[in-house]
Amino acid sequence: MSDNPFWPRPARIPSGPRPGRVEVLVVGGGITGVSLLRRLGERGVKAALAERRQLAFGASGRNAGFLLEGTAANYADAVAAHGREVAREVWDFTGENHRRLAEALAGRAGYHRGGSRTRAASPAEELRLEESAELMEEDGWPVELADASLLNPRDGELFPAEAVGALAADCLPGSIFEQVEIADLAREGLLPIEADEVILATNAFTGRLLRGIPIRPVRAQMLATAPFATRVVDRPTYADHGYQYWRQLPSGEVLVGGYRDRAPEREVGFGLATTPLVQRHLDQHLRGLGVTAPVTHRWAGTMGFTPDALPLVGRLRPGLAICAGYTGHGMAFAHLCARVLVDHLLGGPPPPKWLDPGRFQE
Ligand SMILES: Cc1cc2nc3c(=O)[nH]c(=O)nc-3n(C[C@H](O)[C@H](O)[C@H](O)COP(=O)(O)OP(=O)(O)OC[C@H]3O[C@@H](n4cnc5c(N)ncnc54)[C@H](O)[C@@H]3O)c2cc1C
Repeated sequence: MSDNPFWPRPARIPSGPRPGRVEVLVVGGGITGVSLLRRLGERGVKAALAERRQLAFGASGRNAGFLLEGTAANYADAVAAHGREVAREVWDFTGENHRRLAEALAGRAGYHRGGSRTRAASPAEELRLEESAELMEEDGWPVELADASLLNPRDGELFPAEAVGALAADCLPGSIFEQVEIADLAREGLLPIEADEVILATNAFTGRLLRGIPIRPVRAQMLATAPFATRVVDRPTYADHGYQYWRQLPSGEVLVGGYRDRAPEREVGFGLATTPLVQRHLDQHLRGLGVTAPVTHRWAGTMGFTPDALPLVGRLRPGLAICAGYTGHGMAFAHLCARVLVDHLLGGPPPPKWLDPGRFQE
């Protein structure tokens, strides 16, 4: 039994000699970091990426690989939380993120667009899914409703760590530096690679570098089985407001995640150890699906939650920007957030207001 994530980490990227100074230093080597570095390269900016461990060591190498529209909330709940206009913009944004990420991956990293299913775990949730379907239809995001579940035909899935590796392979050779930790942002002259601008792509870990940033670390656990011959689920499936999720790979392995709501006070912080309580729920879920293949991997990862479940994208102060805080939905947002931020730093339009990192300041 492995306590490493199911997804193999991308192959080590050979780094060149460390530059003394670059125009932009990206901190963090997950989906955000490599998307930023790739876009900076496309725009001709001299940039480097520093990752404290190795690429995809964080949540990007530990997630379920669902590529879904929107936030973790259903559309009706998102409309209630953010208002109709912002919810529509958020769904538009994530639709565009999907399109751009698929284009960048160009068939790599197991990308497949076969839709997703959201199942109601209670009559109240079923009602919210019905309301969501109506609102989505009106706003130009049609879905199908059947058997207390909502099928979104536009959603997709991928192999997340491989996606990080694929985007990293598109970056300028020698610009990625693994095992390089950025420990202190406060003092000039202390960065291992000096830069005119630093972009934090450190998601859940951002608070360890910068005090007062409104991102809190929340844990999520998963398991994966050996290949199981019977198909038990036809597409990535989400249930109970996103507290349960499962998928089966084309090669038969079944992945199940979630149940952090069963121990919310413990499923916080940066620890990567799994717990018997949450894993018991995941085992039970597996049995409920009728899967008898042995469990091969159990692991945990750290997500970065913001107070309104929307990311923080923009400049924090001169020379320091952030692209983080996806609240468990980074695959849905990160690639386009990175693009929008880089283009903005190079003189393009600002990111949408709902991404403004200063929005929680009084
Ligand atoms: C179990 C689980 C399941 C999930 N399922 C899904 C899903 O199906 N779909 C979805 O959209 N989202 C999912 N998520 C959320 C998603 O994984 C994240 O939102 C996304 O990966 C965030 O990417 P990132 O690159 O911003 O951060 P990360 O991938 O966490 O990368 C941050 C990197 O920064 C590095 N770092 C931190 N501090 C420093 C420092 N001081 N110096 C240098 N490097 C540093 C870390 O080592 C890390 O590699 C899930 C998360 C978990 C944990």
